[in-house]
Amino acid sequence: KAGRVLVIGGGFGGATAAKYIKRGNPAISVTLIEPNSTYYTCPFSNLVLAGERNLDSIGHNYNELKEVYGVEVIHALAEDIDGANQSVKLSNGQTLNYDRLLLSPGIDLRWNAIEGYDQAAAELAPHAWKAGEQTLLLRRQLEAMEDGGTFIMSIPADPFRCPPGPYERASLIAHYFKQHKPNSKILLLDAKDNFSKQGLFTSAWQELYGDMIEWVGLSNDGRVVRVDAANLEVETEFGSVYKASVLNVIPPQKAGFIADRAGVSNEGGWVPVNANTFESTQVQNIYVVGDATLAAPMPKSGFAANSQAKVAAAAIVASLAGITPPDPYWANTCYSLLNPDYGISVAGVYKAEEGQIISIPGSGGLSASDAPTSIRQAEAAYAVGWYEAITQDTWG
Ligand code: FAD
Repeated sequence: KAGRVLVIGGGFGGATAAKYIKRGNPAISVTLIEPNSTYYTCPFSNLVLAGERNLDSIGHNYNELKEVYGVEVIHALAEDIDGANQSVKLSNGQTLNYDRLLLSPGIDLRWNAIEGYDQAAAELAPHAWKAGEQTLLLRRQLEAMEDGGTFIMSIPADPFRCPPGPYERASLIAHYFKQHKPNSKILLLDAKDNFSKQGLFTSAWQELYGDMIEWVGLSNDGRVVRVDAANLEVETEFGSVYKASVLNVIPPQKAGFIADRAGVSNEGGWVPVNANTFESTQVQNIYVVGDATLAAPMPKSGFAANSQAKVAAAAIVASLAGITPPDPYWANTCYSLLNPDYGISVAGVYKAEEGQIISIPGSGGLSASDAPTSIRQAEAAYAVGWYEAITQDTWG
């Protein structure tokens, strides 16, 4: 018997892991547990907000996993995990046993970490930090906004899903405003003083959008501590109150709740893992990948989740066969679009050394600050190529 693997979560990490375990050894029984039959990617959801793509174009399904790879897919929520008995309880009443379990549950939003920002508030002031209904809600609000309105975004401190994501979002919404509501403003209230690709973003904002985008960092009282969603108002740490026409609150985050139920998360809400295999350091035979993990210096990105899933899949296949897993390497590139023809990127290559994940010296890098327009255009085209390739690799 080759063994039974359960995978929880059909996003970037989970769908990739299910496929690559089957690729590694088709005799292993693999079951994927995911409540939704369509997965909408956060990557490129900022283009949906800007009206440059529709939601269907970022939707993916599990047909290839089922039909080509023989993965069993159960559309249910995993509600509880018993690590000692190696079993998982599902929302449909089933309890399943496993030899190895892989979790890629992504993030949960920390409701009420910002006073007044709970699930009900998110219906008025969307986060749109999980793609789907929330993306459409924020898009409708942007469309309905009058010219001359103010779009406010509240941005959390590290660590959070997709470090450059808020700034790409601001850029693409500015692109939309520039064409359709040119008198509007964008105010970014940030709980930190530095952000990913900051120099590239701020100089491109100036070049493309003049003074439309204003960024206020932590030291200038940028941290939002209270939200009044009904009035679209936010209050910062030192008492400044801002009123928005459209309010986007990206709250602090933690690993998806099932990580707590499995006993693999730490007091900070994230999951420590063994750097060589992505097995939990706390519970044997449970592997965790993607945003839920503590994997710095790798960012919480879809590319990183996909890369980590391949390492964990190889480790699971090896451990079920009783052999040593291969030495791991990971890669990541985060592209950001400043408009549909202007791309920038940050890339990294990583390895495990003495139990730590490290950036391989001399690998990776950032787009040049003085690149000509043709390079920005090429990077925007690479971003589209990346999206096609990674979604093909993950969902088929
Ligand atoms: P997810 O992809 O969120 O998948 C988790 C899945 O688990 C979900 O389908 C969920 O339904 C399921 N799930 C959760 N709990 C349970 C449970 N208990 N039982 C069963 N199923 C469960 N990354 C990039 O690489 N490039 C980009 O350009 C990029 N752009 C982004 C833009 C935005 C606006 C945002 C918000 C993010 C962006 N990201 C990008 C980040 C990327 O979306 C995440 O890093 C990635 O989704 C992480 O994958 P994951 O598998 O950890 O989690």
